Amino acid sequence: MSHLTCIRFLRGGRAHFSPVPGMTLRDLETPDIPGDAFEEGDLFLLDGSGAPERTRRFAAALRSHPLGFVKPLFAAASLDPFSEALADGRVDSLEEAETRAGEILTRLKELNRETLLEEPDYRLLAYLHTRPGRELLPLRMPFSPGVYSFPLAEILSGPGDEAIRWLQTLSERRLLSRGTLVDRIRLCPRCEGSHLNYVDLCPECGSLDIVATRFIHCFTCGRVAPQREFLRENTLQCPFCGTRLRHLGSDYDHPLESHLCNTCGHQFVEPAVTAACFRCETRTVPEDLVVRHVTGYSLSEKGRTSARIGTLEDVYELLDQFNYVVPAYFLQLLDWQLALTRRYPDITFSLLGLRFANLPEITDALGRHRTKQLVEAVAERLRNMVRTTDVTTRTSLGIVWLLLPRTDREGARILASRLEAVRGLVTPDETLEEGRAPVTFDFRMTVLVAPEDLFPDENASLLLARLSGNLEE
Ligand SMILES: [Zn+2]
Ligand SMILES: [Zn+2]
Ligand SMILES: [Zn+2]
Repeated sequence: MSHLTCIRFLRGGRAHFSPVPGMTLRDLETPDIPGDAFEEGDLFLLDGSGAPERTRRFAAALRSHPLGFVKPLFAAASLDPFSEALADGRVDSLEEAETRAGEILTRLKELNRETLLEEPDYRLLAYLHTRPGRELLPLRMPFSPGVYSFPLAEILSGPGDEAIRWLQTLSERRLLSRGTLVDRIRLCPRCEGSHLNYVDLCPECGSLDIVATRFIHCFTCGRVAPQREFLRENTLQCPFCGTRLRHLGSDYDHPLESHLCNTCGHQFVEPAVTAACFRCETRTVPEDLVVRHVTGYSLSEKGRTSARIGTLEDVYELLDQFNYVVPAYFLQLLDWQLALTRRYPDITFSLLGLRFANLPEITDALGRHRTKQLVEAVAERLRNMVRTTDVTTRTSLGIVWLLLPRTDREGARILASRLEAVRGLVTPDETLEEGRAPVTFDFRMTVLVAPEDLFPDENASLLLARLSGNLEE
């Protein structure tokens, strides 16, 4: 790195490290960073000598900033766990900070700057992309409702979004992978609180007022009662039939019941265990508690590509031009076609699903401009094939659907084979780049012909869900 600006957050102006030649140092003594410091700073250093509260405020302010969130932040001393979760680790010298910051900043240059500002998803992916191998680890905060939290995700997700849920969604979208399994916790099914109290209750009336008691079973009359009711001046005598009980095993024994309910008098072997939520007071049997696996999260291969190229919505939108209707209306039309075909089986129609499975990888290999040209070419072919009576839509998975009324299997087959040719638009050698495997167009298709291929009682949503399954890997 030729020239870096280091912003140090110091308390009392204590300088730990002397400047590196060519490095500009700017010291701050208030955690409220002036806006220009984010623009100016290439790396940020926490002196760590201040009150943890001020350090936390500084780290959180940096990570909440639209430009500062991804910049290198090092500590010159050990920090509190929250600040540590936001920082990039300890450094022992400015030289070390400079070297490590250089790696982060170089990777940052690979990313599309506008994309980073678009939405929190990309900010998190970018953050992880610039720090290879970094895993977001849950921080244990015993007094918080969920016990575990992800400070960085909480700051990046912005207000109103629950960080844990957000991370789960990103991992379901396979942008993140689950890492180290840290813990398994059980949560209240109503409020997802984890502060639970396991209480023993009477299985008969649910009362909390139960006691462990030893019982006696009198062989003469067969009655059972707590042992204390049998005590008569240091001997045992049955309170019901008056028999003196001398020998355990021949006069009496102890039944299995060992608990007594003071509310209803019920005697029982095992109390009913219930988890009572301290937060919302809901009582749940332990089997019904929500089990959460607390894991770390790291960037997946798909997430890495996504971080580099950003959203592809504008690319997919190129496919929305010909007889396009919104998915909700498409479903209505499809339901109507289904009703029609079920009533008059000679009315046939076809449904074609197309999925462009690797546009992110293609974009990564060929660039956005070339990818747009390719998708334009696909759209052009579709435009030429689609009749005025056909309808198309696109669902969020990047799947294009064509509803083709009065098209039988032969008609659908011809259309599908013409679309097959699209595959040849990307040649493997076009995507050849040093150190990279060649990419080919992963274009998938599924065809349904009604009424033959329909399942009984299948509506439009179920049908699309079934066919989407065919298009997944
Ligand atoms: Zn009871
Ligand atoms: Zn008795
Ligand atoms: Zn609760």
